Amino acid sequence: MKRLTLADCFDPDGERFGIPTYPWRYAPDDLATRRQLRTRGLRPGGQDIAAQILRPRRRREPLTAYLYRVDLARPVRPMTPARWAALAKANAARRRCPECGRDAGYVIPSSLGSCVTCAFPEDQRAA
Ligand SMILES: [Zn+2]
Repeated sequence: MKRLTLADCFDPDGERFGIPTYPWRYAPDDLATRRQLRTRGLRPGGQDIAAQILRPRRRREPLTAYLYRVDLARPVRPMTPARWAALAKANAARRRCPECGRDAGYVIPSSLGSCVTCAFPEDQRAA
C-alpha cells in the first residue's frame, strides 16, 4: 500500500474510505473517540461509528481511531452495588491461580498462566 499523506486522509464525505475520514488532529469538535468521550463522562451509547481518523505512519499501516458523535453520546452508567459486585468477582477470578486454586493477590499474568509460585517452583525453593 502506498504511504498515505495527511492530505490523503482528508475525506469528510467518505468517498475514498467509505466513511468520513479526517487526518489525525483535524477531526471536527463534534466528533470524539471512545477515549475522549470517556474523559467527559460519556460513552457512545449504541450509536454507529460516525467517522474515523487516520494517522499515517512510516512503512506501516496508518493508525485508525473511530469517532462518535458527541451529541448522540450518553452518560456513563453509574456504578450500582450489583455492578461493583460483578467487577469485584471478575477481578477475583483474574487473581485466582488455575494451578493451585489460591488467590495470588495479583492478576495472574497471561504469559505465565499461573501464579509465580506455580510457574517457577524451583526459584521458590531456592529463595
Ligand atoms: Zn499457583
